[in-house]
Amino acid sequence: MSDVREVIIIGSGPTGYTAAIYTARAALEPLMFTGSVEAGGALMNTTEVENFPGFPEGIMGPDLMMNMRGQAERFGAELVEEDVVEVDLTGPIKVVKDANGVEYRAKAVILAMGSGYRRLGIPGEDKLSGKGVSWCATCDGFFFRNKPIAVIGGGDSAVEEATFLSRFGETVTMVVRRDELRASKIMAARAEADPKVSMLWDSVVESINGDVSVESITVRNVKTGETSDVAVQGVFVAIGHDPRSELVRGQVDLDAGGYVLVKPGTQETNLPGVFAAGDLVDHTYRQAITAAGTGCAAALDAERYLAALA
Ligand code: FAD
Repeated sequence: MSDVREVIIIGSGPTGYTAAIYTARAALEPLMFTGSVEAGGALMNTTEVENFPGFPEGIMGPDLMMNMRGQAERFGAELVEEDVVEVDLTGPIKVVKDANGVEYRAKAVILAMGSGYRRLGIPGEDKLSGKGVSWCATCDGFFFRNKPIAVIGGGDSAVEEATFLSRFGETVTMVVRRDELRASKIMAARAEADPKVSMLWDSVVESINGDVSVESITVRNVKTGETSDVAVQGVFVAIGHDPRSELVRGQVDLDAGGYVLVKPGTQETNLPGVFAAGDLVDHTYRQAITAAGTGCAAALDAERYLAALA
């Protein structure tokens, strides 16, 4: 049993690093898989983060994540820069296999794989990400005061983003593939009644244009085939997000959207010794600070679980 660790953490966003800081400071010598593609998590892809408490002047996303990493390592967290490709979480000893086929064992596992925003997959989207293209109005709306903004999507989250952004933007143009919103009636009515919000029905975005920042979008009407350019400085993509729960599907209980289910008031999954937190669990708040908060809670739950085993 000497190769059995106390705790393994999968994922290195704010959730994973916070869980690592807490479990390391509790002398549990956590082993963390950072993931190979997105070590540091979603904030590695953004510029200024202005709403994480403790940084009155704001902080660049990658700097915030490197600070968290340094803090976790300072207390002895061990980091493996690999993806986990297979897990067996059902027994008392959890088995985690990385992309090189190496197996690791632990008494507890904290799942912190986050979720991915759905992308449009059109020209300009990647290049201008963080330079006018955003997936989070709560995070970035403030940067677009008195500027023309487009919101792509027609569901609940798109309508919520558009209504929220109308506080800041000069105008908010919703680009909607169909001739009606898929959002709930009350939310749709609110957006349609908002004098700053206008609708481009039956429309899809073909490209996001600009050299150093967003200048316009090219929109195609799916009924007439006509294309036109709309001048905007912000583009909010609101076509949904997918939790990264494939790894644990069939072992850990998920909701209909694929989010990991935890017991109310805890970060415990249906499996003893398996905890989950952050955007992998949360489809409501989806902020760095809430991810860090639930990462802390998962670590404390894991600590208590391990203490009870001893
Ligand atoms: P993530 O940050 O997504 O981290 C998930 C981690 O899991 C990654 O390290 C990934 O590599 C790893 N992983 C996944 N699968 C595996 C696997 N199989 N094996 C190993 N590792 C794996 N929030 C704010 O509060 N303020 C902001 O200003 C803000 N701006 C944002 C800007 C952008 C562009 C985006 C995309 C998001 C922004 N957010 C912001 C939201 C915030 O980033 C997320 O809420 C937060 O990062 C969620 O943390 P998490 O740790 O749960 O997941």
